[in-house]
Amino acid sequence: MTNLKDSVSIIKGIGEETASILASMGIFTVFDLLEHFPYRYEDYRLRDLQDVEHDEKVTVEGKVHSEPSLMFYSRKRSRLTIQLFVGRHLIKVYFFNQPYLKKKLNIADTITVTGKWDKHRAAITAQECKLGPHQNTAEFEPVYSVKGSLTVKTLRKFILQAFQHYGHEIDENLPISLIEKYKLMARKDAMKMMHFPESQEDVKHARRRFVYEEFLYFQLKMQALRKFEREHSAGIAQHYDLKKLRDFFDKLPFPLTGAQKRVINEICADLKSPYRMNRLLQGDVGSGKTVVAAVALYASWTAGYQGALMVPTEILAEQHASSLQALLGQVGLEVALLTSSVKGKKRKELLERLENGEINILIGTHALIQDEVQFHRLGLVITDEQHRFGVEQRRILREKGIAPDVLFMTATPIPRTLAITAFGEMDVSIIDELPAGRKMIETYWAKHEMLERVLGFVEKELSKGRQAYVICPLIEESEKLDVQNAIDVYHMLTDYYQSKFHVGLMHGRLHPDEKEQVMKEFSSNQIQVLVSTTVVEVGVNVPNATIMVIYDAERFGLSQLHQLRGRVGRGEDQSYCFLLANPKTDVGKERMKIMTETNDGFLLSEKDLELRGPGDFFGKKQSGLPEFKVADMVHDYRALEVARNDAQLLINQEDFWTNDEYTQLRNYIEKSGVLAGEKLD
Ligand code: ADP
Ligand code: MG
Repeated sequence: MTNLKDSVSIIKGIGEETASILASMGIFTVFDLLEHFPYRYEDYRLRDLQDVEHDEKVTVEGKVHSEPSLMFYSRKRSRLTIQLFVGRHLIKVYFFNQPYLKKKLNIADTITVTGKWDKHRAAITAQECKLGPHQNTAEFEPVYSVKGSLTVKTLRKFILQAFQHYGHEIDENLPISLIEKYKLMARKDAMKMMHFPESQEDVKHARRRFVYEEFLYFQLKMQALRKFEREHSAGIAQHYDLKKLRDFFDKLPFPLTGAQKRVINEICADLKSPYRMNRLLQGDVGSGKTVVAAVALYASWTAGYQGALMVPTEILAEQHASSLQALLGQVGLEVALLTSSVKGKKRKELLERLENGEINILIGTHALIQDEVQFHRLGLVITDEQHRFGVEQRRILREKGIAPDVLFMTATPIPRTLAITAFGEMDVSIIDELPAGRKMIETYWAKHEMLERVLGFVEKELSKGRQAYVICPLIEESEKLDVQNAIDVYHMLTDYYQSKFHVGLMHGRLHPDEKEQVMKEFSSNQIQVLVSTTVVEVGVNVPNATIMVIYDAERFGLSQLHQLRGRVGRGEDQSYCFLLANPKTDVGKERMKIMTETNDGFLLSEKDLELRGPGDFFGKKQSGLPEFKVADMVHDYRALEVARNDAQLLINQEDFWTNDEYTQLRNYIEKSGVLAGEKLD
């Protein structure tokens, strides 16, 4: 009896050595081998050059039109050039470091060449060349990743054998209804088609099936988790006081935007429901998330609960404490700040007041979730910039107190595609509107050589009473170099502005007290120019600062640049952002250009994702993003949305848990552990 779980060694030609190479590639069973899909396909079919894009790889057949001319750059490096008639085009073909071809290529010979098409010069740089006309065999070949002495050709033979003996055993794992609905290929056929296609069309067709399959399975897990969390978490129904809430709106210093009102409604509905809130609030920099947080905390208070706001840095904690103090203090709430610098007696006292319920709202960094911190009646936890919090902290938070409602706020707009994968188990609210009257931040990209001019411009603004941030290059590998950079720039600027303006310095190595001191001096305009590493990235609010200069801007992601830029443009005055950058690549240049063209964080995040890929988007290892074999979250996002909707429908369908059609899907969900209360993260 054959079984897909048989060891690959069963296949003819796979001995001990090959088996160990395959094992190092993660291939142990026959099924693993069948699932080792090509990562690309080589297209050897002839095409009209007219239709070929610049830099695209192409195969052409033509007649040699000139004697090959050979040129040596050095003993080993040479270039051979011929002219070739391809249909009605006369093109050039270059062969690098193959001088021996000179004797083989004769005028009027027909040859077949594969290589990169340079449209502007009408030339091909040859990668392969066959003497004679194009042969119709092997027009379209899969290319596999391989290791060691294993070649693509051999691997292909193994896979072919595997199909001959095991192909019939590949089971369908999608419900017939969905296969019919989307006209998907059967799993067996699609698998074969991935390995032995005849054209790009075939690949597309087969891929489509696997993309949907992978997304559907993934989303089923997410949606099952979401449903489970909703139904099995003993949440609190917070009956807030609507009248008090309305009065509170009237006391706000400004009318809420439509988007703010909408997300407040969504949050309030969660508060009231008996389920635990698990909501992500996205809003661009400056969209006014703080006041939304204040309203939510206030609502929870009117229902008799305490609230907590957790942020990534102490500076931010202090700022939030003062803005919430201003907003909530006026209606009688007791707002307290807990950071690592609150120590000794003060700390003890604060913790006591928290535990007996005198403190209504607690704001702080990670310190908030330490064991010693006990709430009286915690109802709502809000985190700002949640992607900076590790998975572990999220878990502890969820388990702390009496199953509090949890709201995650982020100013890093997460592209829809990522939001529904990385946060698929969450509800999402979006503030997609800025308060009226905001001015666009004028953004310029300047080469480093233009620093003088930029500083001259900065000086003019400073003379008008404005303030500036100067962000130093980020050196991820070394915090020490990072700090040194900031110190160097600090000295340079101190020198440059002499006694005219005060320059301050901020970096991660400063003592929290020193940081606080510097921030205070900047807020109160004792310091006019703040040189800093990226520690000012999130949340800091000094409305009189209107200038942002960012060194080595090409090293930052677009979303991060947008965050940094968001430190200015917070007051009435026109703000400016200068990106100092000498990017070396086209992508680098394009990124700088995009920054100068838009202030829209969502657009930038989509671009960022497109240019850098999902892995880099959340930064190092933070992503928690799933890996797919075939599907690509960015390019296949439509399928992702479709799969999500289907998963949602299925999970909530009455016969889902009983109908035979769904056995495989059910088994998968059960095996994944989400129903046992294990968290995905
Ligand atoms: P973010 O979403 O970046 O955290 P903030 O909450 O810090 O934004 O708000 C940015 C600024 O906009 C603050 O100065 C805040 O007082 C102001 N603001 C918020 N909402 C409104 C509104 N509806 N109308 C006018 N100004 C607002
Ligand atoms: Mg904020």
